[in-house]
Amino acid sequence: MAGLLPKGSVVKNLLQMASPGAQALHPYQPGKPASELAREIGLEPGAIVKLASNENPLGPSPLAQAAVHELLALSRYPDGAGFELRQTLAEHLQVEPAQLTLGNGSSDLLDFVTRIFVQPGDNIVVSEHAFSLYGLNATAVGAEVREAPAKDFGHDLAAMAALVDERTRLVFITNPNNPTGTWLAEDSIRAFLAQLPEHVIAILDEAYFEYVDQDGYPDGTRLLADFPRLLVTRTFSKAYGLAALRVGYGVSSTELAELLNRVRPPFNVNAAAQAAAVAAVKDQAHVQRSVSANRLGMKQLIDAFEQLGLDYLPSVGNFLCVRLDNAKTVNAALLQRGVIVRALGGYGMPEYLRISIGTEAENKRFIDMLTEVLAQGDAA
Ligand SMILES: *Cc1c(COP(=O)(O)O)cnc(C)c1O
Repeated sequence: MAGLLPKGSVVKNLLQMASPGAQALHPYQPGKPASELAREIGLEPGAIVKLASNENPLGPSPLAQAAVHELLALSRYPDGAGFELRQTLAEHLQVEPAQLTLGNGSSDLLDFVTRIFVQPGDNIVVSEHAFSLYGLNATAVGAEVREAPAKDFGHDLAAMAALVDERTRLVFITNPNNPTGTWLAEDSIRAFLAQLPEHVIAILDEAYFEYVDQDGYPDGTRLLADFPRLLVTRTFSKAYGLAALRVGYGVSSTELAELLNRVRPPFNVNAAAQAAAVAAVKDQAHVQRSVSANRLGMKQLIDAFEQLGLDYLPSVGNFLCVRLDNAKTVNAALLQRGVIVRALGGYGMPEYLRISIGTEAENKRFIDMLTEVLAQGDAA
């Protein structure tokens, strides 16, 4: 085998050939797959509880599931323009189809907007404790990532505005924010957008939009009329329960959408994803069931944390951050018991674990294992 692999020096040369941005990168660290932990600790994958990637524990709408099963023409390319999905979304969102850009997950949109507007030497502005993909994309193209300190774990928009200069191309607002679960009201977002210089594009990442039910929480698509340099991103990976299929979208002015569609790979959203997403949009009752279940699961976890005397960050998403003096060791002890949650060292929150809200049984299993770990003190 060894003879088939390139020699060390060749690998080193490859690294030197890479762009400075790629050289500076570290791969995105996703939540550990249940199958991987199952192999490591010798359990069946079905015995693992994974509450690490903010997926919908109810799964997708049965109609979306059926749409995938009924898909027959596997030899045919998908509709590259995503006509039916864009029509369906446009109707649901009350926007024009030409304002929509489809992505292989909304991550695709984050990549497109960076590649279009950001060049080496430019910068982007993000908040502390923000989704790591924003910085990863900017670093890849040789840009500087400016991180504004958070306020009470949420975005400090004044601190973000203070970092904007003539080389700033993009600012990212996540509402609500992952992993902290904090949110911003419409008036503060409007005021922030209104004072951005004309050479800056704002991205409003609404991956958890469907879960939020707070007075004053804005629907980003309603801001587009006043802010033509705004890109709103949403996804089917979270409340819609379609994370495996990879489908998301951007909503923007038609001018910005036209640019985004220039760099979009021709068949970036596969046929199964398109069919499932169309069916999922049409089944809003399933979204409502998912949101209701999330609310109950959130309460179940909060009650347990209060019982255990643990501090947590109030969250409007489908996840919750809990504070532990020894989060890293507790995380390792939970893994040994077949429970996967997310350690947040990479998000500048080493004393927190993020737990995605699961089914009642999954939440209970997590609570039982956490209680056991804390009681045994084997995490000390
Ligand atoms: C999950 C998530 C996304 C989107 O993920 P996709 O699966 O690529 O649509 C985007 N932003 C945030 C903050 C997220 O948590």
